Amino acid sequence: MAEPLLQIDALEVRYGAIEALKGISLQVHAGEVVTIIGGNGAGKSTLMKAVSGLEPAHAGTIRFAGQDITRVPGHQRVALGIAQSPEGRQVFSDQSVRDNLMLGAYHRKASKAEIEADIDAQFVAFPRLRERQDQMAGTMSGGEQQMLAIARALMAKPQLLLLDEPSLGLAPLIVKEIFGIIRGLKTKGVTILLVEQMANQALAVAERGYVLETGRITLQGEGRALRRDPQVRAAYLGKH
Ligand code: ATP
Repeated sequence: MAEPLLQIDALEVRYGAIEALKGISLQVHAGEVVTIIGGNGAGKSTLMKAVSGLEPAHAGTIRFAGQDITRVPGHQRVALGIAQSPEGRQVFSDQSVRDNLMLGAYHRKASKAEIEADIDAQFVAFPRLRERQDQMAGTMSGGEQQMLAIARALMAKPQLLLLDEPSLGLAPLIVKEIFGIIRGLKTKGVTILLVEQMANQALAVAERGYVLETGRITLQGEGRALRRDPQVRAAYLGKH
């Protein structure tokens, strides 16, 4: 089998004395959707930040596309092909939807025409963003901002898309829509690492999943298998 696109080995991340990640290993292959599920404070966001370069590794290695990126700064990782849609969306509130999308492509050496064509492609995938292209991002609904955050990350033309809790704080119907979008990206072959508290939906869309508990991976397997696992059902799906 080809080398994984993302290969994490024995990764440790600390915040002072707090060991948020205590030596985790995982892989994401090109074209896969892989999910990390876990409760509050398990270390999910920390893992995403370590992959995107926002938090340094205390120990362990992160390899991406055959290269050791453990010490590569975050902005260079974007250029290498890793884009994150962060938890809490974090769109640029006082910029328009269109400007947010432009900013997603900031590191690319693409012509204006190419960027315009890519923005147009995002408007095809997210029609609601086209309708609101001149609206200030901060005035949009939570679901619209989440769509914008995903579309902005896609403007970087990433090889790996990191989605940190895209369902957070959204109404059930919008959550359904967001998972529909993730399914659509999967069909297009986008490689995704998805962190979620909505374990049921996340495991339904993902080929494989990992369960993270207080900084350690306690279970891993195919999405479908994890969905049937009694421990996962009891702890994360509210079923016994
Ligand atoms: P949630 O779903 O609640 O966002 P999470 O699984 O994403 O949780 P993290 O945010 O990664 O969890 O946090 C993991 C641990 O690290 C927690 O104990 C948290 O309190 C701690 N932590 C996170 N960020 C910091 C920080 N900047 N400084 C100190 N401790 C932190």
